[in-house]
Amino acid sequence: MTDMSSKVNAILTLLQGCNSLKRLQKIQAHVIVNDLEHHPAISSQLLNFCAVSVSGCLAYAWLLFSRLHNPQIEAWNSIIRGFSLSPFPHQALLFYNRMLFTSSSNPDTFTFSFALKACERLRTLAKCQELHAAIIRSGFLGDVVVCTSLIKCYTGNGLTNNAEIVFNDMSQRDLVTWNAMISCYSKAGLPHHALNLYATMQREGMGLDAFTLVGLLSSCAHVGALGMGIELHRIACERGFDTNVYIGNALIDMYAKCGSLSDAFQIFDGMRKRDVFTWNSIIFGYGVHGHGTEAISLFEQMLMAGMQPNSITFLGLLCGCSHQGLVEEGVKHFHMMGSRFNVKPGIKHYGCIVDLYGRAGKLSKALEAIHMCPTQDDPVLWRTLLGSCKIHRNVEVGEVAMAKLAQLGAFNAGDCILLASIYLRANDAQGVARMRKLIKSQRIKTTPGWSWIEIGDQVHRFVVDDKSHPDSAQVYQKLSEVIHRATLAGYVPDESHVFEECLGSLGICHSEKLAIAFGLARTPEGASLRIVKNLRVCRDCHSFTKFVAKAFNREIIVRDRVRFHHFKGGVCSCRDYW
Ligand code: ZN
Ligand code: ZN
Repeated sequence: MTDMSSKVNAILTLLQGCNSLKRLQKIQAHVIVNDLEHHPAISSQLLNFCAVSVSGCLAYAWLLFSRLHNPQIEAWNSIIRGFSLSPFPHQALLFYNRMLFTSSSNPDTFTFSFALKACERLRTLAKCQELHAAIIRSGFLGDVVVCTSLIKCYTGNGLTNNAEIVFNDMSQRDLVTWNAMISCYSKAGLPHHALNLYATMQREGMGLDAFTLVGLLSSCAHVGALGMGIELHRIACERGFDTNVYIGNALIDMYAKCGSLSDAFQIFDGMRKRDVFTWNSIIFGYGVHGHGTEAISLFEQMLMAGMQPNSITFLGLLCGCSHQGLVEEGVKHFHMMGSRFNVKPGIKHYGCIVDLYGRAGKLSKALEAIHMCPTQDDPVLWRTLLGSCKIHRNVEVGEVAMAKLAQLGAFNAGDCILLASIYLRANDAQGVARMRKLIKSQRIKTTPGWSWIEIGDQVHRFVVDDKSHPDSAQVYQKLSEVIHRATLAGYVPDESHVFEECLGSLGICHSEKLAIAFGLARTPEGASLRIVKNLRVCRDCHSFTKFVAKAFNREIIVRDRVRFHHFKGGVCSCRDYW
């Protein structure tokens, strides 16, 4: 008997030091020779090793599992866990089902967590809800690990509300739970919620780690909350997280998206370890700020550092070329993608090329680029072209683009307005009337525009024609003063905007005007304003902001859906090319 147990111990020790399948098979031979194949501790260790510790042994794990007469909970958990992290997560759920129907074992913390992991990766909502019900029935709702996995699973399935309900009902939470909820909000595009949650977290005396910081920094980047971002940067340095490459990347992204490109570069420059995300973040940063030349130069440094660019790298590059009007360079890099780096251009890359040609007035080339794209029926491409037609007042190509959008059944009020303004500038009253009729008859909805501005440690949000802000009356009063002073400085409302006004449905007062008025009222003389907007800045607001920057002697930085505008002394960094 002692002989037997010393053998078992020896084998278990061997298994602990095992690091390859080959070695494992030798140990297994030893197990079989000694007739210990069905020893519970040994079989479970063997299986765990194949399923979890070493990648690529899952098939072997499956084989081992099938040889077990009566698999115990540890064995089920190993196989479910192994598959949940593998390229075949659905197998994990099949094993979970099999366990329920064929075994006497009941699921435990680990079973639920791994099964939920599989659901999260497969984005299968029905199964996630079924598991949620099973968790309630088996009394695991008080289990921190299980509930945290449930939050992650709902996040993966895009059900923020459900994740929130689970989170709020938890009697106990650990740091992983808080991080899961912050990341949930940040992924769902609810950065406000993420930042508020952080405030609660602090009140409850919960610490933070690198994961918390990454989630929060990405929320700051989203809303352009530079003040908060700087505070998080300070915390990161204090805790020694600043050398962490993930934090570094998140900081670059935050500073670039909050309009502070020099700080982004400083972080980049100070990083000793850089991965492809690091390079992409900085190249993208320069790209959306309209610094195409710098983006290209960074791209060349990236190649020299031996880093392989990917599709995101090129998106940043092309975006920079397009905003700066570097047609030749843009096209060159677009072709380089496939020919030199074997990166297949996606719809967004084609979009950049259409934009690049279109802005530069090469509309026939833009049209050619659309026909080159494998998915030329994408409305985004045609809409981009239509936008270029507006800049260059080209009725002919504009009508082609609109006809294509109509054929695809994809046109919206914004498109009609675009074409209507093209007609308006071409003095085509009939065209304008046709568009107006079309908008009315179709009752087409537009995406509501909103803007964010950070003042102190609070982020304020305004929508078009907003009356919901608590200081609404004050904001409108300030706005009329601002408009008055901008007009004295030379601001003239844009004619196409007047046209949009006539339509009524699109709103008279765009959200960034409200945000600017609010910012001017609430910040000291000379302070810069940073505004984030979900749509493109319209011509009228662009001109308005230039004159406000001049009249009030303020720097105003606006991040719109596609790029940054730095307004100062009556001019914008985009040189009206956007
Ligand atoms: Zn506007
Ligand atoms: Zn601009």
